[in-house]
Amino acid sequence: MPRNSENPPPRVPLADLLARRRRIGDRVDAAVARVMAHGQFIMGPEVAELETALARFVGVRHVVTCANGTDALRLTLMAWGIGPGDAVLTSALTYVATAEAAALCGATPVFCDVSPDTLLFDPAGLATGTARARAAGLRPRVVIPVDLHGQPADYAAIVPAARELGLRVLADAAQSVGGSLNGRRVGGLADATATSFFPAKPLGCLGDGGAIFTDDDALAEVLRSLRVHGSGKDKYDTVRLGLNSRLDTLQAAVLLEHLAILPEELAAREAAARNYDAALAGRADIVRPVVRPEARSAWAQYAVALDDRDRTAAALNALGVSTGVHYPTPIHRLPPFRGALTASDALPASERAAARTLSLPMGPYLTVADQERVVDALVKATSGKT
Ligand SMILES: *Cc1c(COP(=O)(O)O)cnc(C)c1O
Repeated sequence: MPRNSENPPPRVPLADLLARRRRIGDRVDAAVARVMAHGQFIMGPEVAELETALARFVGVRHVVTCANGTDALRLTLMAWGIGPGDAVLTSALTYVATAEAAALCGATPVFCDVSPDTLLFDPAGLATGTARARAAGLRPRVVIPVDLHGQPADYAAIVPAARELGLRVLADAAQSVGGSLNGRRVGGLADATATSFFPAKPLGCLGDGGAIFTDDDALAEVLRSLRVHGSGKDKYDTVRLGLNSRLDTLQAAVLLEHLAILPEELAAREAAARNYDAALAGRADIVRPVVRPEARSAWAQYAVALDDRDRTAAALNALGVSTGVHYPTPIHRLPPFRGALTASDALPASERAAARTLSLPMGPYLTVADQERVVDALVKATSGKT
């Protein structure tokens, strides 16, 4: 179609969720058709097949799939017996689900700050957060570091420090499947790792889905029971209270196809990130969070910090570029968590990031031409020429 002023080029979406279909739509449709034909819609063979394939990909003993990422966090906390009187530390800069999972178990979240350079859980919060939890009469039990934007948190520092303090480590890897730290894939970096297959995540499905990764045999067994109402030897033998939280067979079938091309998609995301880095290299006023040399990000988001974030986002939008904010409000400022415990009187790095961070269009199928449009628009928007 010829382009003129009445025919502007299509918008650059934050994430193009249909692009993958152009590549493997036929394979996904065939996988869905196979499930339609065998009819085992709940816990069909594709579910176990996916769990085996994911365990091999990540390099862990067990993968337990479930209905969504929030349940993956919640089921793990339930399996560990977390409840009223227990404190769960996490960062204030995350999606609400991280803290919600703890609160729904009856536990008390304790919000910690992030490191200003990486926007990941600052390990300094472990000592202060547990001290404040104890002072409030709570038992500190778990820390949930968040792999924000796809970069694994600082597990090399967090895991040993958490051990000293008697805390278990549950990684919130909703955004980071495929990332790694010192050559070890996300999923094997903590006592347990929760992820999400929400469509926009690096390993997304076509609806809701989630999983827990662990090397702990006993934990995996309890999780398998909890996701089916706390079942025992069969579904009418209920040995504990659980949830109805299974991954649909249809989504497992789709995920097997998506997992097969995940390594190539991760490489494409990495290339897109490098491209943005090169294009923005001269702009001291537009900086992205640091990815440490020992870490590989899954690049769920490519975010930059901007002094005038909201005005810039509006200008980009007017120029046909969609953006996102991950996340606009530190969780302890949201109504359900107002007045919540914090690891220090203020969480300045989380507050500053919430006010300044903007996610640019990102994805494995983002074209170089679209990236140029994003960068051109960003240059215009930040030089006041709009
Ligand atoms: C997406 C996300 C979740 C929740 O996953 P759902 O599958 O939507 O329940 C939890 N934590 C973080 C950091 C996320 O990005």
